[in-house]
Amino acid sequence: MNNFFQRLLLSAALLLMIQSAEAARIVVTIPPLLSAIKPLLTSEDQVTVLLTRGQSPHGFSMKPSHALALQRADIIVSVGSGVDQWAQKTIHNVERTHPVEVVTMTDIPNVTLIEGGHDEHHDGELHHDDDEVLMGINPHLWLDMDNIEKLVAVFSQALQKTDVAQAQEIAVKTKTWIAKLKATDNHIQQQLEPVKKVPYLVFHNAFVYFEKRYGLDNKGALHNSAERKAGVKRLVSVDDMIQNNQVKCVFQEPQLSNKQLTGLIKGSKVRLGTLDPLGDGSMDSAQFMQSLANQYLNCLAGKK
Ligand SMILES: [Zn+2]
Repeated sequence: MNNFFQRLLLSAALLLMIQSAEAARIVVTIPPLLSAIKPLLTSEDQVTVLLTRGQSPHGFSMKPSHALALQRADIIVSVGSGVDQWAQKTIHNVERTHPVEVVTMTDIPNVTLIEGGHDEHHDGELHHDDDEVLMGINPHLWLDMDNIEKLVAVFSQALQKTDVAQAQEIAVKTKTWIAKLKATDNHIQQQLEPVKKVPYLVFHNAFVYFEKRYGLDNKGALHNSAERKAGVKRLVSVDDMIQNNQVKCVFQEPQLSNKQLTGLIKGSKVRLGTLDPLGDGSMDSAQFMQSLANQYLNCLAGKK
């Protein structure tokens, strides 16, 4: 091979190295995790969301393409609760065999965890299952703004390690982003203050972190699990609450079938709202949490 081609090949190889060093391959299990990390990324970073758009994470299972994405990742972000337990075994395997940064929300120090309230997680006791998933907690812990901030801080460290050249820039973006999240948190707190005492029902207990943080008056859930249909007994007691006007709103969810819920409120004065616990990752977490707050406000304040 002549000298010219050798040099050409070498520079092409160098270019490839530079490119792969700049772009981080990031895999997140569910859309709200993308919302949390989005403001720290550049257009070169490649993000894969495992959960199919519009699907509930409850009862989801991975395809071979999902496992492949995990094997190729530089950084993997997951919740580590019952909500993405379908990914944990593969994540642990990848961790053992590849150099990868793994960020798991339930492993972050001082993250807020709320026990119980979600039947598919068995007995309500905190324990790790075979795939080291933290069970017994309510699994939707990304719906707490403080938890999102903690996730952002830990992810930022992982991204800085992966993309050393950009580390300083990432650190600056992180500061700005966390300040934005704190401001949004304060704004939501003020916004929801007037509707704190308005009683309502949810479809399944996905929102306890949000409700606890902002002091909302959730009177219960139609389902204890996201999978099963409500039994007759449960339906009767929910119907009682609706008929006695003990609740002003019931909230359906876009990812789950709401036939039972809409049937229950037919002919009553109870308002029907929608709460989306996931989003599709197109909003950042500040926008996403703000839109969730608006969803509460619209129904609870009677604007609908
Ligand atoms: Zn759930």
